[in-house]
Amino acid sequence: MVATGERESSCLICGGTRVRLVVRAPDFEYQCRAGEWELVECRACGHVFIDPMPAASDIGALYPSWYYTVNPKSPIYMEGPVVEAKMVKDAEGLSRQLGGRSIRSVVDIGGGNLTRLIKLKEVLSRDQPSPVEAVCLDLQFDAAVLSQAEGAGIRCVVGNVETDLGALRDRGHDLVIMRQLIEHLRDPRAALRQVHQKLSPGGVLVIDTPNRGGWDYRLFRRRFWGGYHIPRHFHLFSLEALARILVESGFIVERQACTPSIAFWIISLRNALGLNSIERGKSFWEFLNLKSLPVVGGFYVLDLVWSKLGGETSNQFVMASRAESPVNPST
Ligand SMILES: [Zn+2]
Repeated sequence: MVATGERESSCLICGGTRVRLVVRAPDFEYQCRAGEWELVECRACGHVFIDPMPAASDIGALYPSWYYTVNPKSPIYMEGPVVEAKMVKDAEGLSRQLGGRSIRSVVDIGGGNLTRLIKLKEVLSRDQPSPVEAVCLDLQFDAAVLSQAEGAGIRCVVGNVETDLGALRDRGHDLVIMRQLIEHLRDPRAALRQVHQKLSPGGVLVIDTPNRGGWDYRLFRRRFWGGYHIPRHFHLFSLEALARILVESGFIVERQACTPSIAFWIISLRNALGLNSIERGKSFWEFLNLKSLPVVGGFYVLDLVWSKLGGETSNQFVMASRAESPVNPST
């Protein structure tokens, strides 16, 4: 029997069939299509997902040419000295967390703008006899990215993490990065199984993805939270749910933590204020963007202090290594 306010669907994490509505909202950021979408929560395990799941053939239309990863006019386009300094800092932090592991090949899946991978390659190549191999895998690359990649010694390969990683070597890569990607996938389990196959024994997978837990989430969860990113975030994992599917896909979870969610603060506020997030306009509030040092620094410090006090923030990070075979490869 389905209780009031509940309906039937299917949960990727636990197989539960009863869900309840979390939020119904339009595409505030890009207006890629008229109408509203719904995110629902599994009553059994709390996993949140879009319902109904968009068809694979409809996904391309959700990423217009003005999407933030490829649109320099976007208020959260990743460029400039503040962003670059943060990427170097993130790369150095990751390098420390990898400890003494030998990393000879790194793959950034869904790398988009290459800046992050370029910084990571530089940092990981320090104190190495030769530069590490760096591969960016994405659904497509434009000419500017290909030219930038050539200059930086990065190999760009076309592939789909859910269905086709044929361009990568089996057991051939020591580090795979999936930043702000897994939540966009229809079938994250399929992606994790594919990645498992491409990692070298003991190789490391690093994921970051939204977490429903920070103050930005608490303040804006009824409608405007940037982490919903409606209709492009298909799965919103709890820390437990992410750990669970990693283990079920053959990984050992080594480290898991919350991290600051600067972009979600900015987008939540922009959504609530009715600002256009395709490009910046003339509003007083346009200082809410990723190139503003006080804004980025302010939200970074706020989330960092809160997480040091033991609170959750709206981004999560997990580092997992390849166990020899998936626990349950048939699922
Ligand atoms: Zn569930």
